[in-house]
Amino acid sequence: MTPRHILPIAALLAALVLPCSAAEKLIALTFDDGPRPYVLYGLKPPGSPPGLLEVLDRGGVKATFFVMGWRLTPKTWGETRHETNIGITCLEAARDVLRRGHEIQNHTYSHADLRVAERKKGMAWVLADVERGAQVVQALTGSKPQYLRPPDWDLTDDARRQLENRGFRILTISSQNPPAQRDVNSLDYLCAGKGTGCPKPSLAQSVLKGIEQREKHGLTTHVLVFHELTTTTAQLPELIAALKGKGYRFMTISEYMKLVR
Ligand SMILES: [Zn+2]
Repeated sequence: MTPRHILPIAALLAALVLPCSAAEKLIALTFDDGPRPYVLYGLKPPGSPPGLLEVLDRGGVKATFFVMGWRLTPKTWGETRHETNIGITCLEAARDVLRRGHEIQNHTYSHADLRVAERKKGMAWVLADVERGAQVVQALTGSKPQYLRPPDWDLTDDARRQLENRGFRILTISSQNPPAQRDVNSLDYLCAGKGTGCPKPSLAQSVLKGIEQREKHGLTTHVLVFHELTTTTAQLPELIAALKGKGYRFMTISEYMKLVR
């Protein structure tokens, strides 16, 4: 066979092989439990590390924030006992989150454990808490948030069905969602406070290791779950740089779900 004949065959083979081998590497970075202005902007003293929003801007990353509805009420700046008031309300911070191109989705209004709440207060209460969370997000964004991440991913099958019937898409760590659409738990909450149980050698390295494990199973798309925590913010520059180095592209959850099956 002359080179003239080989070339078209090589091109044909490449066309057949490429769509698989050039699989897209996508990440939906998500943050629960906010808006927390002291995390989003950092604490004010000069020399303080940058806030989460600045870190994301520097990395050119658009993320998704699963917020607690109660925070999006006027004048609320956070939890008095555990958080610092930096003079910015959660609502102001949420508007800025949107202005910067991030997405806001639903983490319920009260942040109650929905399985426990269903047992103690009934299904109607659970549905109302999710709807109320959706309403405050809608008041802010202009459209009903499609995605719901239940606190601690705790939800009965019955509640899941009822919420899906109402148009919510449920994010979960369980096998009810296909692997590519399943939440990857970073365990970052174990690094806050005293940090007992924080993944070793660091949160960033542990998340990267988890992604390598998924890649071994052929998964190159991941929904990463973090929380609005200063300890998490501190790990993000390293993590974002490493993932970009591996060829990953970051996007909001709704963009991600359009591309990933
Ligand atoms: Zn939560």
